[in-house]
Amino acid sequence: MPTEAEVGFNKRRAEGRDKNDASRKNLHLKVRKLNPINTISYVQILGTGMDTQDTSPSVLLFFDKQRFIFNAGEGLQRFCTEHKIKLSKIDHIFLSRVCSETAGGLPGLLLTLAGMGDEGMSVNVWGPSDLKYLVDAMRSFIPNAAMVHTKSFGPNFSTDESTVLSRSKLSDPIVLIDDEVVKLSAIIVQPNCFENKPPMPSNSPAHSSEILDSPNGKRQPAGKPGDMSVVYVCELPEIKGKFDPEKAKALGLKPGPKYRELQLGNSVKSDRQNIMVHPSDVMDPSLPGPIVLLVDCPTESHLESLLAVKSLNSYCGQVDNLPEAGKSVTCVIHLSPASVVSCSNYQNWMKKFGSAQHIMAGHEKKNVEIPILKSSAKYAARLNYLCPQFFPAPGFGSLQNCSLASSEGSFSDLSEVICAENLLKFTLRPYSHLGLDRSCIPSKVVSEEIIDGLLSEIPEIVEAAEHVSQLWQQSSQRKEDLVPVFDYKMMIEEPWLCADGVPASLENIRRDDLEIVLLGTGSSQPSKYGVSGADDAVRGLSCIWISHIHADHHTGLARILALRRDLLKGVPREPLLVIGPRQLKRYLDAYGRLEDLDMVFLDCKHTTAASLDSFDDGSLGTPVDDGSTLFSKGSRMQSYFKRPGSPIDKDAVSHILKKFKGVIHEAGLKSLISFPVIHCPQAFGVALQAEERSNSVGKVIPGWKIVYSGDTRPCPELVAASQDATVLIHEATFEESMIEEAIAKNHSTTNEAIEMGDAANAYRIILTHFSQRYPKIPVFDESHMHKTCVAFDMMSINIADLPVLPKVLPYLKLLFKNEMVVDESDDVVDAVASAS
Ligand SMILES: [Zn+2]
Ligand SMILES: [Zn+2]
Repeated sequence: MPTEAEVGFNKRRAEGRDKNDASRKNLHLKVRKLNPINTISYVQILGTGMDTQDTSPSVLLFFDKQRFIFNAGEGLQRFCTEHKIKLSKIDHIFLSRVCSETAGGLPGLLLTLAGMGDEGMSVNVWGPSDLKYLVDAMRSFIPNAAMVHTKSFGPNFSTDESTVLSRSKLSDPIVLIDDEVVKLSAIIVQPNCFENKPPMPSNSPAHSSEILDSPNGKRQPAGKPGDMSVVYVCELPEIKGKFDPEKAKALGLKPGPKYRELQLGNSVKSDRQNIMVHPSDVMDPSLPGPIVLLVDCPTESHLESLLAVKSLNSYCGQVDNLPEAGKSVTCVIHLSPASVVSCSNYQNWMKKFGSAQHIMAGHEKKNVEIPILKSSAKYAARLNYLCPQFFPAPGFGSLQNCSLASSEGSFSDLSEVICAENLLKFTLRPYSHLGLDRSCIPSKVVSEEIIDGLLSEIPEIVEAAEHVSQLWQQSSQRKEDLVPVFDYKMMIEEPWLCADGVPASLENIRRDDLEIVLLGTGSSQPSKYGVSGADDAVRGLSCIWISHIHADHHTGLARILALRRDLLKGVPREPLLVIGPRQLKRYLDAYGRLEDLDMVFLDCKHTTAASLDSFDDGSLGTPVDDGSTLFSKGSRMQSYFKRPGSPIDKDAVSHILKKFKGVIHEAGLKSLISFPVIHCPQAFGVALQAEERSNSVGKVIPGWKIVYSGDTRPCPELVAASQDATVLIHEATFEESMIEEAIAKNHSTTNEAIEMGDAANAYRIILTHFSQRYPKIPVFDESHMHKTCVAFDMMSINIADLPVLPKVLPYLKLLFKNEMVVDESDDVVDAVASAS
């Protein structure tokens, strides 16, 4: 068993003291010189259909020297990396609402930007005033708040101001940006219940002024943060017509200062004729600047308010007998969901914009036929070809028509309505190209084409796939006298093939007992389940366990919790149990002020073996010495483990621990035990042990044991917790050659992870937590891999297939033989690794 001296770790980082080093970084906002006459400008749809549910797509507003992004849902970063859209060039991010649908990808994006280059990139984040709740929440894991320049606008909930603002004042456009290239303003839309507050009965308690009866009869607080929605108006300046000297001459003007006056827009007196010469006489007509509206109207209640917004009337062309006052909108991008868009009121409102191009980008349109992440789809299809047992079929290929088709009739009055597609552009400049541009929309990926490509690239894969399928036949036959079935160079002796190497816990194991699905660190597309299957998986969650506070381990949490809340609306249910490090509670508490996440939190430290024992014997809350010798006496890290629970939360904790025990029992588990690891303050691993079973002859056999390391350096706690584990899932962030890096960042190398598994006598080791980039196979030393496999996103390992697991690895390596070189071409570097 390794000791601290042998394995080495970065104590400073483990104790959380290297934060200060990071905050010394100077994060400057980029200052770019603007080009007043733009040659190229467009809006572009990014990441529609990114999530299985209703994550908002993003919209890029592109100028030569400035970039704006509207909304940053889950997976935006991965989408942009794949499509070579440089996030480092984004100057401003605007949120149409502040919730996990629209901002789920923001924390990861900010962390990536902060890790770029030597200095880090900073960005402006704009949103309605409840943005501050999100920023407060993110402070718990974004170490350097300086890199988030948040600018919120609109009514402030913490004061009484909002109650005195009249509707008209609320919906007045707020100009956010006004420079040479664009004028960007925001119009706030709130649910209609804000205005129609029922008169308060005089005897009502003081707090009831915040409670309203909602249509479903459930009492809800009025003006809850997260309810505000924003319509953004982007106006490009008009391009002035050219001055025509011939016309000026014909009107009797001499070249000179009067030419300049006319170009400045002033009328002058003709030199040779007794007339006034007006600019319009000598200037070519100016080209109106295009106007783009981004409309996010999340509910019908917001719709009532949206229809009442007077300021939008000035964008509806000729209105109220004041033709010259009307500007006409060129393009409207609708982020509103189908349920709102299908309202006749909404469609009538759309008609007000005349000939504007409408792009329907609202969610609930699942573009499954075009995989969002093409390279992931490619790998998924290839892996599935080689080994369908571990790699479920990618969920694309079924052609679905745009759901607008279903409501086709209702849009018949509007000629210019189209469905958003990924990378669809609407060109704004140059004027000659004004209009839709479909040239960037990715072509449909057909599974068969990917496989054809694979077969021509690696012809030997055909034979390999046959061998892989034979592995299953052999394993079911349990032949003792296995003949080597193939002779690839990478194959080595297979002493582990003998059936008696299988641990007792796997005896007569049922396939429905356990399946491990590895969702990886990036955004996942749980295509295995299909859209409704993924929903079922979220519905059926009974516990979420988070190892530590680094963003790559939990930024999707709020989205999943919000999705579960929505999926289970109206269904009797318990709040979901979330077990995590204490800093996570701060985040969830802060986030909970923005939207209800329907969860209860249990600190990992209450689920350590020592703490659970003290709960069982009634001494919960008294200080326990967990025997940790990892940290020097008096260090911050040590004090975390020694600190007793405060008496105030003792009752609350024991209540949640009771729930915890119930959840564990219901899942067929004997125990769930967290254990401290060496990575950052409050970093944990976890061990799950199934209940004992009886085998076919009635003998009691131990239940399986699954251990997950979290992020960590090798440490004795991990070995102790993983003793005789059926599966150890261990991080292996770095390859063997990067041991210094591993020590500096308190991660493990592949060999170290395997050594941990060997030291603990684990039956199988699964290596995970590789780069956030595309699925590739890490470099590893084959001679040590006889009980090990590497994980891929969406890899799905049934417990009954564990004996076969390591034997698949050499074939996987064959699949990636041409991809062993790291692609450094994109500047979206794996910056998260530095904070993971
Ligand atoms: Zn980490
Ligand atoms: Zn990590």
